[in-house]
Amino acid sequence: MAPAEKRQLMVIPHTHWDREWYLPFEAFRARLVDMLDRLLHLLETNPDYKHFMLDGQSIILEDYLEIRPDRRQDIARQVQAGRLLVGPWYVLADEFLVGGEALIRNLQKGIAISRQFGPPMMVGYLPDMFGQIVHMPSILAGFGIPAAVIWRGVDKSIPTSEFFWRAPDGSEVLTIHLPEGYSLGRALPLEREPLMNRLHSIRQVLEPWASTRYLLVMNGDDHLEPQPELPTVIALSNENLEDAKLAQATLPAFIEAVRQEMGARSHSWPRVEGELRSSQRAPILSGVTSARMWIKQRNQECEDLLLHWAEPFSAWANLIRRRSEGNDRATSDAALLGLAWRLLLQNQAHDSICGCSIDEVHEQMAVRFRRCRRLAEAVGRNALRYIADMVAPESGTHVVVFNPLNGPRSDFCAARLPLLDDRQPLALEDEDGRRLPLQALRRSLPSSDTTRERVDAGFLARDVPAYGYKTFGVIYGRPTRLRRPRRAQAIENDCFRVEASPLDGTISLTDKASGVTLDGLNRFVDGGDCGDEYNYCPPAHDELVDRPRRPPLIRLVENGPVRSTLEIALDYSLPQDLTADRQGRSRQRRACHVISRVSIYAGVPRVDLQTEVENQAKNHRLRVHFPTGLRAQLCHAEQHFGVLARPLAVPEDDGTWAEAPIGTQPQKSFVDVNDGRRGLLLTNRGLPEYEAIDEPQGVTIALTLLRCVGWLARPSLPNRRELAGPPIAAPGAQCLGKHVFHYSLVPHIGGWESALVQAHRFAHPLRGVAARGGKGQLAPRASLLSIAPSALVLSALRAAENGQGIMVRLYNIASQPTWGEVRLEEPYAAVEVVTLNEEPLGPAEVEDGRVRLSLKPNEIVSLRFRTNR
Ligand SMILES: [Zn+2]
Repeated sequence: MAPAEKRQLMVIPHTHWDREWYLPFEAFRARLVDMLDRLLHLLETNPDYKHFMLDGQSIILEDYLEIRPDRRQDIARQVQAGRLLVGPWYVLADEFLVGGEALIRNLQKGIAISRQFGPPMMVGYLPDMFGQIVHMPSILAGFGIPAAVIWRGVDKSIPTSEFFWRAPDGSEVLTIHLPEGYSLGRALPLEREPLMNRLHSIRQVLEPWASTRYLLVMNGDDHLEPQPELPTVIALSNENLEDAKLAQATLPAFIEAVRQEMGARSHSWPRVEGELRSSQRAPILSGVTSARMWIKQRNQECEDLLLHWAEPFSAWANLIRRRSEGNDRATSDAALLGLAWRLLLQNQAHDSICGCSIDEVHEQMAVRFRRCRRLAEAVGRNALRYIADMVAPESGTHVVVFNPLNGPRSDFCAARLPLLDDRQPLALEDEDGRRLPLQALRRSLPSSDTTRERVDAGFLARDVPAYGYKTFGVIYGRPTRLRRPRRAQAIENDCFRVEASPLDGTISLTDKASGVTLDGLNRFVDGGDCGDEYNYCPPAHDELVDRPRRPPLIRLVENGPVRSTLEIALDYSLPQDLTADRQGRSRQRRACHVISRVSIYAGVPRVDLQTEVENQAKNHRLRVHFPTGLRAQLCHAEQHFGVLARPLAVPEDDGTWAEAPIGTQPQKSFVDVNDGRRGLLLTNRGLPEYEAIDEPQGVTIALTLLRCVGWLARPSLPNRRELAGPPIAAPGAQCLGKHVFHYSLVPHIGGWESALVQAHRFAHPLRGVAARGGKGQLAPRASLLSIAPSALVLSALRAAENGQGIMVRLYNIASQPTWGEVRLEEPYAAVEVVTLNEEPLGPAEVEDGRVRLSLKPNEIVSLRFRTNR
């Protein structure tokens, strides 16, 4: 073989650093400090050891420098010399369980930290993610990152380890697949013979897939230190190999070499579209979407608070403050929210948010979530309070209703209103003098938050402007008594009739618009789970419990002009645990109390459910079922920047798959089943796992509420062929105790598009803030922003990084190209289109004060409005 055609094995020294997993963060950090001390010494003393990649995540630098701040310059020197490769991510997040905007912030922060030291490694390194999302190429391309390196999720239909991966908006990245993960070239032997054998087996794995003469050999593994003998190992290999050559390299160098060789052939290279979520070649650990469900719920709450409340409304409040007072809190707000994001992103690392670590790790996550929530809530509340006081007239009591979504929006809103002497709030009045009924929901007695007695009241807030607010006056009168709950089995309004079955507590829902009735909804189905934090696994002899032990207690707990609520109290009897051999479920039973509250609102085409579960059983999975009565081959699940159609059929495992395929799939705020004429959309808050089950009577949607297991990893599972992690007990993953779940049903005509707005409204309710004796300096209703049409969905609305403007990011959720308009309702000097990293791309097209946009399917666009400071 001519030297130029020799096989080139490019060896990438690296480590994979799970920051917290089977040990807590500080234990791993102590090892990290040791590893980096040695690495820096190695780079400083051995010029032949050329490169080291720090796992694509810059949090490693932060964690190290907190202990060794004296080594900042030493790191910068190695990064600038190109010997230490850092970034682009802040953490290696799970792709499916975090939001699209969170992935963008993760890259922004990772790149910004890396740049403090030198140029970041601009490779979408995703070595250990449990499958790859459909929109990842758009995200990477939006940062100018031209390539990705991935492992899990690729199936055998992709013919080569090098291909172009394309997102729905047409963004493409050159992608390198690691056929057996990121540790194939770990700890290379120092002796000739074992080394030659090892290189032979590495080539046997890589060569069948390679489409160029370059092979990517990853020299590292989980928490592994650099191998200082690597230069000698490479020299020894090259002395003994005739048809191949080894060299130390970096990922960017490997990608460049592949690109060079591809040259003019790039158009004929394989193109791969869609999400990569096959478990044929490597486990995707599909049960992590339901392990420790509380983590997914807390994460969603924090993302929602930051993105829909704290960021947009503090940006707006600061514009108003600057105008009216010549001063603002933008710098402090940005710093508080920066800390909130940092805590949240730390929790989004794959072993953390997936719930697949030891209990101590997740206990520390709970504290980070609480800190994040307090920070976001404080900044958000402060902003709403400030705007409400600026808006509310001087006399009387008012409630200012805030809408974090597009509009105008008519929806249910709850507010805590003060009492006036012995008089209670009785109704609301809008600016045109129209009266709105007010329904007292409950009294709130003085607490740590307030010294005054108040009443929680609900109303239908009509036509609240987009990303804005509307003011209502509160009319007081003599108190009326709250009605006592009474027995009833049905509630009804102009949209729906909902009836609870006295036999099993399931509900029948009649949609008056279509005349269709769906029966057997909201059925709780519990089965055994002998798996672990990574994988659901039904026991060989499973027992399903799908009805309560006795007839339910059904009560009408609210029945007013605004909201009616039926409470269904169910008494389930569940097997206490698995049998001792884990092959079945035990005979001993535990009571499981489930309370579902079903609410409908006058004028709102949505049926909201809140379910409380008191879990006392172990090793089981609890789901709630919704038979749609519809025939379909596909279902539609919301993803990060669009909606993905997934087939219902589960692929066939011929016995060779790394992990048996399963019907459960990840979702964002909704999943929809429709037959083109009508459909049922199920929306949720922080419940990312569903299954669309094809049954003889139609498709049933199952939503996972709890998956309870006791092990980080079981040594062997019938449906997984590899060990997923160390077999350590994790009793906290049994999720004993009380849990509350929120989901909602939207029956609709046509496809998911017609129910989309309701799905997002359920996920992001209106907020009402009461104000007495305000300043009356602002209009009674206003918008910060307006966007049309509704297929353009807001991803971020916040103060620009430099405090000099407003950043707006939106995407086209539709599967077709869409024209649209964006208008900032505050004065601004200029508007430009920027990258996802918020670097200028050019001026935006503006007509009559509106930015005109044309977006491809699922395309993401970022705009920066420059305001006058
Ligand atoms: Zn990992």
